[in-house]
Amino acid sequence: GFQLTTKDYVDYIKKAYERIHAQGDYITELDSATGDGDHWTNINMGFEKLVEAAPELEAMDLFSAFKKISMIMMSVIGGSGGVLYGSAYMEAAKTVKGKEALESADVCAILEAMMNGIMTRGKAHPGDKTMLDTLAPVVECYKACLAEGADEKTTCEKVKAAAEAGYQSTMDMEAVRGRAYYQANKGVGHLDPGAVTMYYQVDTLMDCIAS
Ligand code: ADP
Ligand code: MG
Ligand code: MG
Repeated sequence: GFQLTTKDYVDYIKKAYERIHAQGDYITELDSATGDGDHWTNINMGFEKLVEAAPELEAMDLFSAFKKISMIMMSVIGGSGGVLYGSAYMEAAKTVKGKEALESADVCAILEAMMNGIMTRGKAHPGDKTMLDTLAPVVECYKACLAEGADEKTTCEKVKAAAEAGYQSTMDMEAVRGRAYYQANKGVGHLDPGAVTMYYQVDTLMDCIAS
């Protein structure tokens, strides 16, 4: 099985940044349709600052690095995303405390803690047309793969597919939280931008594990 060190996780952050950075026009268009158009600017800035902090993060143990990531995201990402991502990484930090490397079960625990952090903080649930609609099926799928004893390649493929289906499911959802709720049609017919950027993150993380 794989073992992700802090350095590996920071490499993942860099790749996720590249992925998000490349999709500026698309994500801005999505948030313009259902919100205020700033989601890409917000999340891109957050990841940009993480990449700037990469040398510092790499030198830390996992627990400290995750706490630092949480603080950077909290302070840098504007809009609702900052507190939500900040809470996600703070909850994830608790699960990596004392660990020197992450195995598959640890990665699953991180994703579940992130989901719970976001849910506690934002009071949204799966089905509300948010980034949770990517994360919740991902966590469910990952846990099922671990329980079945699926090999890591299969697990990655299944989790990627769950993330993709998850963000796509937001197309037909009515928003219950966030700005899309205030749109006349509650965002129906449009993808949720936060679900798409969460998909980029999960998909990139699975690529890093598989490589
Ligand atoms: P803002 O809506 O404040 O402008 P962003 O545009 O950066 O912030 O982020 C919007 C995204 O945040 C949405 O697409 C959605 O996925 C996510 N989001 C909004 N509110 C919540 C919430 N309460 N819980 C989880 N995710 C949320
Ligand atoms: Mg916005
Ligand atoms: Mg905003």
